[in-house]
Amino acid sequence: MIIAGPCSVENFQLMDMTAAFLTNLGVKYLRGGAFKPRTSPYSFQGLKEEGIDILKEIREKYGLKIVSEIMDARDLDSALDVIDIIQIGSRNMYNYTLLKEVGKTKKKVLLKRGMAATIEEWLNAAEYIALEGNDDIILCERGIRTFETYTRNTLDLNCVPVVKQKTGLKIIVDPSHGTGRRELVKSMSLASISAGADGLILEIHPEPDKAVSDGFQSLNFKEFENVYHQVLKLYNII
Ligand code: PEP
Ligand code: MN
Repeated sequence: MIIAGPCSVENFQLMDMTAAFLTNLGVKYLRGGAFKPRTSPYSFQGLKEEGIDILKEIREKYGLKIVSEIMDARDLDSALDVIDIIQIGSRNMYNYTLLKEVGKTKKKVLLKRGMAATIEEWLNAAEYIALEGNDDIILCERGIRTFETYTRNTLDLNCVPVVKQKTGLKIIVDPSHGTGRRELVKSMSLASISAGADGLILEIHPEPDKAVSDGFQSLNFKEFENVYHQVLKLYNII
């Protein structure tokens, strides 16, 4: 499962360009945040409902599956028609009320690991969703906070074989947030797959330096294409 797209839904044109590019490559999942959980309340918070409307239009035009974050259970109902995979972000992994609400839906859920969560806490968060009746859950390792500051987070690839050995859940890796540095994304993408991950979620942007969020960790289209082909080779798909 390869998911790609910009950190934030910035405008229709960005999503349209990205969707056309991914469709051409054969990628089936498009990411893009409409509701953005930013560290600073003064940073861009996402286009919210307008962003969901853009994703709806793109989904209808290209038939791509949409992966997008929901931060508030009150936004769930209107998003269910548009979002194919509901992303629960790192900051909300401990939001048990939200987890339970998502568990009452029949949507696939991408549960990101809390940035300071142990593997056990993360698996318990998945249980909160599953106990409500929805066990269509994909885990996503997105890096944890350690003493290291060179990288934004420390990608904990140990968790990939652990999850495989302890659970029947799928696990994908997010090397964009896991490293916070675009020059490290390719190496860590390949490492993730070698460790047994079922896929990747990658931030891409036609002009990363102009992205409204997370440009420093986003690949441009050409860089993504290169990573994508190497990933397919590792999976023995080409
Ligand atoms: C994101 O995917 O853009 C995001 C905010 O991720 P995380 O919740 O892992 O920080
Ligand atoms: Mn991001």
